[in-house]
Amino acid sequence: MDHLDRLENKSIHIIREAYSEFNNLSMLWSIGKDSTVLLWLARKAFFGHVPLPLVHIDTDYKIPEMIEHRDRLAKEWELDMIYGQNEAALENKETFPDGNTTRIECCKNLKSEALKKTLNGTWPRYRMNHNTGKYEVEENPEPYTGVIVGVRADEEGTRSKERYFSPRDTNNDWDLGDQPPEFWDQYKTDFAPGTHVRVHPLLDWKEVDIWRYIERENIPMVSLYYDQGDGTRYRSLGCNPCTDPVESTASTPQEIVKELESGKFSNIAERAGRKQDEEDGGGLEELRKEGYM
Ligand code: SF4
Repeated sequence: MDHLDRLENKSIHIIREAYSEFNNLSMLWSIGKDSTVLLWLARKAFFGHVPLPLVHIDTDYKIPEMIEHRDRLAKEWELDMIYGQNEAALENKETFPDGNTTRIECCKNLKSEALKKTLNGTWPRYRMNHNTGKYEVEENPEPYTGVIVGVRADEEGTRSKERYFSPRDTNNDWDLGDQPPEFWDQYKTDFAPGTHVRVHPLLDWKEVDIWRYIERENIPMVSLYYDQGDGTRYRSLGCNPCTDPVESTASTPQEIVKELESGKFSNIAERAGRKQDEEDGGGLEELRKEGYM
């Protein structure tokens, strides 16, 4: 087995372990490269069929190509696709792009709060009807007791403090100082009732591993990751008003791998183009303690 095979094997093992241990499990899909690799691994883990719902938190400010990509793959791969959003905050314009909040408050409203209420079923969830291709309100949504998330330890500082199986309290809050040890690939999966568990099968993957894997497996990615001819591309994807592209002429996964191997970005954080990180003191600790992905 080579390095990518080992990473793939471990991630698939964690996905299967989570599926067998938690009754009401979902998987987050942000449409970014990491969660799309995670989705690909879930398809491999269950022989092409993903047996759990894919949840997307739609801030309404995502770059339109991302939503088109989500719906195209959801139809093609017959995914149980669900989205949720903070409709009240959008209606009341309690957002940064409307000029009424800081970025941190906006992320709390449109991402953390929307995630919490979508997962626990207290706000409407919209599920794709594969007959019509439209989204419909889910009747009687059950809370998800666990969610599989595509965060990587090397992406930014707070993510390196995560466990593969990371408990959150009933408010979705994260106590960094009280996490189970995970020695010798032994995972704690029995948590007290009411605990919400985040599962992180991609913790060991690095940015270059992700792109080598995308290249090897020919995984369809949203075109924003590739230079379209203007000498820029997105290295990390997020909301339109808060995400800047990087200068790069890489237009294929192979060229991105070469670019990363060249060291061009070795002194530039992967999420340097994500402006909410700057407002959270250069990291995401405040946001992530309160439920941010
Ligand atoms: S990334 Fe920007 S637009 Fe999106 S939720 Fe955060 S502050 Fe709001």
